[in-house]
Amino acid sequence: MAAIKGKNTKPEIAVRKFLHSLGYRYRLHGKDLPGKPDIVLPKYKTVIFVHGCFWHGHTNCRYFVIPKTRTEWWKEKIERNKQLDDENSEKLKGMGWKIITIFECKLRSKFRNKTLQLLTTRLVK
Ligand SMILES: [Zn+2]
Repeated sequence: MAAIKGKNTKPEIAVRKFLHSLGYRYRLHGKDLPGKPDIVLPKYKTVIFVHGCFWHGHTNCRYFVIPKTRTEWWKEKIERNKQLDDENSEKLKGMGWKIITIFECKLRSKFRNKTLQLLTTRLVK
């Protein structure tokens, strides 16, 4: 069974290490911001969410599979998570933040470099 949403997950650390290696300054777990973004880059007015594919219901992703037991309960739960994600995004946008969401499957070794390269292109002042 998938672990509960934790802080300092491995995919998140991969993003942090990458940003750090390029000299980006960031804060972690913006507790004062809606949805507590995993990585906050104040200079770029950008927040990054590293989302688990299961908990955040990554559409058309093979890592997002609703369990066969208590199916309805899970569906509702994931829908609620997605709704919260949307609400938080709206709030952040309203505050002038740019939002980058990275799903964990895009940080698997096969895609990681591409995903991280793409990330730098989006971090433009
Ligand atoms: Zn995914």
